[in-house]
Amino acid sequence: MKRPIYLDCHATTPVDERVVAAMLPYFTEHFGNPSSINHVYGWETEAAVKKAREVLAEAINATPEEIVFTSGATEANNLAIKGVAEAYFQKGQHIITVSTEHSAVIDPCNYLKSMGFEITFLPVQADGLIDLNLLEEAFRDDTVLVSVMAANNEIGVLQPLAEIGKICRERNVLFHTDAAQALGKITLDVESMNIDLMSMTAHKLYGPKGIGALYVRRRNPRVKVAPQLHGGGHERGMRSGTLYTPQIVGFAKAVEVALQEQTTECERLTHLREILWEKLSQLEGIHLNGHPTQRLPGNLNVSVEGVDGAALLLGLQPVMAVSSGAACSSASTAPSHVLMALGHSEKLAYASIRFGIGRFNTIEEIEQVGEHFVSTVQSLRKQASLV
Ligand SMILES: *Cc1c(COP(=O)(O)O)cnc(C)c1O
Repeated sequence: MKRPIYLDCHATTPVDERVVAAMLPYFTEHFGNPSSINHVYGWETEAAVKKAREVLAEAINATPEEIVFTSGATEANNLAIKGVAEAYFQKGQHIITVSTEHSAVIDPCNYLKSMGFEITFLPVQADGLIDLNLLEEAFRDDTVLVSVMAANNEIGVLQPLAEIGKICRERNVLFHTDAAQALGKITLDVESMNIDLMSMTAHKLYGPKGIGALYVRRRNPRVKVAPQLHGGGHERGMRSGTLYTPQIVGFAKAVEVALQEQTTECERLTHLREILWEKLSQLEGIHLNGHPTQRLPGNLNVSVEGVDGAALLLGLQPVMAVSSGAACSSASTAPSHVLMALGHSEKLAYASIRFGIGRFNTIEEIEQVGEHFVSTVQSLRKQASLV
């Protein structure tokens, strides 16, 4: 049976063959513990980890000592938010974030709230961007952290990191960004953007699952995070646990490949997205969710009037693997909190589809997907009008 066309690259991506090739020797041949300082098995993996750290640091204009490897962006977000909350407890207990963040930011914030911290969830405008005036008004004397994502995982919207960083720096408040969707797709520069902490993950950019990193600024200012995993004191005490060399090597290779191809790939994906939107926008009552241009090149998120969301998804499924406005957190079938934050009704949020176009999608696939989407909506509307 032919499998549907994969268009869910915000959920995860396949591992690039070049990444797999780079990883393989580190499973069986170079398997040493990078912390083993007494023999060559340790030295060679230590060298591989060192090189990977340099690649990652260079990609975001940081230094290698500022990279803390984690199991992914969920752990990096938890370490950043809970780690800063704990380390700066004496300074204050107020955190500012945004209503459209990933649950890996919202849930740690809500956990801190249950512990007595105060959290401001900024709303977003109809295009998904935050209002910088509202951000400025939200600061208090006891604000210790601002956490705003780089690129939204549902609607692809890119928040103005440099402006946010500048505002935070002027007030001496730490700035964390969840860059899980942004790394390798847009330029990230922790210096020019005044970013103090940044969460990253490999599996959204054709690297393996189960590996990510947190950037933690060491200079101007030197950021403290309280460890959330205690043990052998790895990663300068911030994250204990034996380093997972094959995944780390794969992560670095994935970043290297993504940066090499970033400019051309960005153009190609933008082109594919425009072709898809051109086709879909022939339909009446279809809305593009999120800012039309300030978004990830491979992201298209639409809401369709006059169709049932579940029926739409069912009709699309044989041809394309996409996400709906209901299924974005696997455990629940509530309407997407991101689409609701844009001011959508529940019904329209349910009748929403997220396309995540990626490295391995072709123009022929996008054309096929566009045709099938339009004919599915048309036939559902016809059926509805007959009832
Ligand atoms: C996927 C994703 C995460 C979670 O990353 P994991 O590495 O799977 O833990 C966090 N934030 C955003 C914005 C994401 O897209």
